[in-house]
Amino acid sequence: MLERTLSIIKPDAVQKRVIGEILRRFEAAGLRIAAAKMLRLSPDTAARFYAVHRERPFYQDLVRFMSSGPVLVAVLEGENAIARNREIMGPTDSTKAPKGTIRGDFGTDVEKNAVHGSDGPDTAKWEIAFFFSESEIC
Ligand code: ATP
Ligand code: MG
Repeated sequence: MLERTLSIIKPDAVQKRVIGEILRRFEAAGLRIAAAKMLRLSPDTAARFYAVHRERPFYQDLVRFMSSGPVLVAVLEGENAIARNREIMGPTDSTKAPKGTIRGDFGTDVEKNAVHGSDGPDTAKWEIAFFFSESEIC
């Protein structure tokens, strides 16, 4: 099924200057970059984006991390894009992510894990609309 998913290259990966390498991996995996922009999330915007995690103990740290520097937000499109993207990202905890996955190669720990990817069709829809208007998606 042709799907769209939201990707965020997080502040840790932007600071490491691996945006290009990560976008290359998306494309090599058959995903098309349908939209992309650099943003510095305000703490308020990061808090709204991650509101689903607001009861979790790591929420405040996560909001601080995600607003600590610029990010690249992108819409990826392709066959089974949601699952495909999560496959190449690897598991949430970078220390457990296999080498060859984005998190395994560029993440540091369970928080500073280089990338975000939507986890299902409903969240993908909500997350894409959070950052992009339909006219910004090519
Ligand atoms: P993402 O939603 O960013 O694609 P994910 O779906 O693999 O990652 P979630 O459980 O949705 O993971 O957590 C969202 C983000 O919160 C993680 O990507 C990570 O940055 C942070 N996080 C998750 N678990 C922890 C934790 N135990 N301690 C600190 N930060 C965490
Ligand atoms: Mg998630």
